Amino acid sequence: MNDVSIKWIEIASLISKTPYVKIKCPSCDNAFLNIFITPWQGDEPKVDIHLLCEKCNAKNVITKEVSKSNKA
Ligand SMILES: [Zn+2]
Repeated sequence: MNDVSIKWIEIASLISKTPYVKIKCPSCDNAFLNIFITPWQGDEPKVDIHLLCEKCNAKNVITKEVSKSNKA
């Protein structure tokens, strides 16, 4: 596992605590990542967190479980 992979994992845990934090791109270290959160279709209480760097096009998707706060 290289340094960049480790940084992505650190980012994943950071986002799960603070979803709208500004994060520098771990690949180029020259721009902030765009973050898009898309809920899963269906019953599973999960979201995909898409991270995209405009500068170097680095991207990553992190799947995160979310606790159901509201019962449908
Ligand atoms: Zn970048």
